[in-house]
Amino acid sequence: MVICSSGYRIALDGNAKGSNVNFVSHAHSDHISGIKNGTATFASEETRELLLARYGIMVKEEPIPKSIRLLNAGHILGSKQLYAETEESGTIIYSGDYQVRDSPLSGKLEIRNADALIIDSTYPYPDISFDPCEEVLSNIQHLVRTKGQNRDIVLGAGCIGKAQELTKALNEIGIQPIVDKRIGDINGVYERHGFRLDYCRMGDAPPRGCGVFLSEPKNVRHIAAELSSSAGAIPITAVVTGLANLYDFGYDFQFALSDHADFNSAIEYIDRCSPKAIYTVGKEAAAFAHNLRTYGYNASPARNANQVECSSSGISLASAENRGKI
Ligand SMILES: [Zn+2]
Ligand SMILES: [Zn+2]
Repeated sequence: MVICSSGYRIALDGNAKGSNVNFVSHAHSDHISGIKNGTATFASEETRELLLARYGIMVKEEPIPKSIRLLNAGHILGSKQLYAETEESGTIIYSGDYQVRDSPLSGKLEIRNADALIIDSTYPYPDISFDPCEEVLSNIQHLVRTKGQNRDIVLGAGCIGKAQELTKALNEIGIQPIVDKRIGDINGVYERHGFRLDYCRMGDAPPRGCGVFLSEPKNVRHIAAELSSSAGAIPITAVVTGLANLYDFGYDFQFALSDHADFNSAIEYIDRCSPKAIYTVGKEAAAFAHNLRTYGYNASPARNANQVECSSSGISLASAENRGKI
């Protein structure tokens, strides 16, 4: 999708036909399709560093004009929303992935009024909600304290965002996790931005008793198998993901920790943004728009209905007279 402001035709989180600059809201892989070395990009400094550390991509930093601002999205380090002033259609916010709860590692979500809101749809259903993050992290700490005396524990979590929250939560109970290379590299970026994380990398770990290992979810079983063949005892395995509320992943434990807004948080965000029109994006765009409409909001899926279009001077919103909460 493309929106226009100050002569820029801005592709939102992925390549789009006719764009002349990309906005990369944050460094998760589902938001960087088509981004290569040298791609002209609006992004935070933290996102640019994470792109380099995780994917080896060095984007070209495009100076941000006055009509555009990057607002904190509270999702992971450096995550931003795009706020754009346009001549034809007033102000537009593109949320990217966002999180309403305060996170000590991701900062606080900034919310502004806008005429149109293009919003992420990751969790579109009213019946899916997340327990408070502190509660989930406290449950993980409890698992480590009670079960980690005699056995290794292998925790799987996304390498950007969740892994750092877990590193911090483990540090709070005096545990220095042993992390895989990828998580170690990303932890390094967080540290360069002022966050204190205590960990050691797999391979550098000193001889020890039982340990807590932190890796990407796809490597948990492999690491657990290696540990049990070298040390004898079978390690405890667990995965930490927002999807733990939806699927059984087959580990000993799973924890639903999300860095996305659930439906109720999305409503809170929308109400505070107070847009006249809402355009949903992502795989669940149609379901989210449908559910928002049943709650009385003027919402439609942007991708399917092609309701967000670029004109010479700005975004065009369909049914402009008809905007607002129904
Ligand atoms: Zn994300
Ligand atoms: Zn995403």
